[in-house]
Amino acid sequence: MSSSTVFERNAPGKAAVTRALDDSRHAVFWLEDAAAPGRPRLGTSVDADLAIVGGGYTGLWTAIRAKERDPALRIVLLEAKTIGWAASGRNGGFVEASLTHGEANGERRWPEELAQLERLGSANLDAIAEAVERYGIAADFERTGTLSVAVEPHQVGWLDGPGTDDDVHLDEAAVRREIASPTFLAGRWDRRSTALVHPGKLAAELARVAADLGVELFEHSAVRGIEDDGERVVLRTDTARVRARRVALATNVFPSLLKRNRLMTVPVYDYVLMTEPLSSAQLASIGWKNRQGLADLANQFHYSRLSADNRILYGGYDAIYHSGGHIRPGYEERPQTYRKLASHFLTTFPQLEGVRFTHRWAGAIDTSTRFCAFFGTARRGRVAYAAGFTGLGVAATRFAADVMLDKLAGETTELTELRMVRERPLPFPPEPAASVGINLTRISLDRADHRNGRRNLLLKTLDAVGLGFDS
Ligand SMILES: Cc1cc2nc3c(=O)[nH]c(=O)nc-3n(C[C@H](O)[C@H](O)[C@H](O)COP(=O)(O)OP(=O)(O)OC[C@H]3O[C@@H](n4cnc5c(N)ncnc54)[C@H](O)[C@@H]3O)c2cc1C
Repeated sequence: MSSSTVFERNAPGKAAVTRALDDSRHAVFWLEDAAAPGRPRLGTSVDADLAIVGGGYTGLWTAIRAKERDPALRIVLLEAKTIGWAASGRNGGFVEASLTHGEANGERRWPEELAQLERLGSANLDAIAEAVERYGIAADFERTGTLSVAVEPHQVGWLDGPGTDDDVHLDEAAVRREIASPTFLAGRWDRRSTALVHPGKLAAELARVAADLGVELFEHSAVRGIEDDGERVVLRTDTARVRARRVALATNVFPSLLKRNRLMTVPVYDYVLMTEPLSSAQLASIGWKNRQGLADLANQFHYSRLSADNRILYGGYDAIYHSGGHIRPGYEERPQTYRKLASHFLTTFPQLEGVRFTHRWAGAIDTSTRFCAFFGTARRGRVAYAAGFTGLGVAATRFAADVMLDKLAGETTELTELRMVRERPLPFPPEPAASVGINLTRISLDRADHRNGRRNLLLKTLDAVGLGFDS
C-alpha cells in the first residue's frame, strides 16, 4: 500500500514556494564566489612527460600528486572549458572518506576488502586535510562530520547500533537540539568521516597549487583525439598537439576519448538551491551550531549544509536522467524540480519561511553501474583513466589520482592490487534500453520511499545481480 512522505504530508503553501524562488538566478554560487585566474589556450605543440585531460579534481590531484612524486616532470593539463566548471565546481562539498559510495555498496561488492578500503579512504581524507594545511588551501575546509537523519518512522531503526565518541546516535530530542527540524525523528552524527569544503574555491586552489609546483595549465583546449605515434601518445586539440610519455584521462562523465569507456558512465542530473545568508535570528531558530553536513535516509535523499557565510545549500532528491544520455546546459533548468526542492526545504525548516533562494543550478552526476569509480589503462599501459564517482568524488578523486599514477608507473602497489581497482564494472546498455532501465529504477526507488522502504521486484533483482542501489 502506498503512503505519503513527510514532504507531501507537511507541504507548505504554493505561494510560499513561489516567493522563496522569486529572486533566484540560474547560476552556480560556488563558481561566482571563487576567484580563479584565466589560463591560456594551448597555442603551440609541446612534449610532456605526463599529459592530463580534464581540469576537475581528478585531473588537478593527478597533476599535484605527480609533481609531489617527481618535481622534475614536465606536466601539461588540458581542460576543455575552464578549471572546475563541471561537477568539481558545483557539488555539495561533502568530502567523504568512503571510496565505495558508502559502506553498504562496498560490503555488497568487495566484502573481503572493505576494512582495507575503509582504512585507505580514511587515510585519503586525512591526507586531504594535511594538504589543505601544507599548501594553505583557502577553501573553507571544516571537518564537521555528517548528520544522517530519519524523516519517516520506518527509517528510525536504520540508525540503530552501538555508537562511539565519533559516531553518535541521537534520539528525536537530541537530533533536534543539533538542528531544529520538526521532520527529524532520529539521527546519527559521524564526526570524522566527512569534511565540508567550498567546491569552487577547492578547484581554484588546487589549480593554484599545481601551477606553483610547475604544472602547465591550459583552458579552452578540448582534446579531440588520442593517437599513438609509436613512441609517444599524441593528444590533438583544435590548435596544437601534446606528445606525452604518459597520459591520464580525467574526463569523468564526459564522452571518453577511449571507445571502450563510452558506455561506462551516464549523466544523471542533480539539482541544487542556495539561500541568501541567514540572519543571526534565522540561524538561531534552526541551531546547527556544529555545522555538520546533513542528509536524510530516503532512497531519494536530500543533502544540505551551511556555507561559510551561513547560507543553506539544499540539493538532491530528484536525480534526472535525460534520455539519450547527453550533457546539455538546457537540462540544468527544471522548474518543477526547483519548486519541489524549495517545498521540501520549507517542510524541513518551516521557521525559515520568508528566506529567499539566491541561486539555483544543476550538474551531471558521473554515474557508473557500480556507483563508485573504476580504473584502467590503455595503449600498452601508457594511458590511465578513472571515472564514474557517482556523486561521491570530492575526496575519492585524490585516491583515483594515486591509482592512475601507480598504474602509469607500471608499479604493483597496494592500490593496484585491490579487487575494487582491478575489476571493471558492467557497462550501461545502449539507448533506448538505458533510458528505460534507469527511469524504471528511479520510479521504483521513489515507490520504495512511499512504501515504508519496501523494495519491489525490479530493485530486488538489481540487488541480486549487484546493480542495486540504496543511499
Ligand atoms: C550537483 C552535484 C553535487 C555533488 N555533490 C557531491 C558531494 O557533496 N560530495 C562528493 O563527494 N561528490 C559530489 N558530487 C560529485 C563530484 O562533484 C564529482 O565526483 C567530482 O567532482 C568528479 O571530479 P572529476 O574531476 O572527475 O570530474 P569533473 O569535475 O566533471 O571534471 C572533468 C573535466 O574534464 C573536462 N573534459 C572532459 N572531456 C574533455 C576533453 N576531451 N578535453 C579536455 N577536457 C575535457 C571537462 O570539461 C571537466 O572540466 C556532486 C556532483 C554534482 C553534479
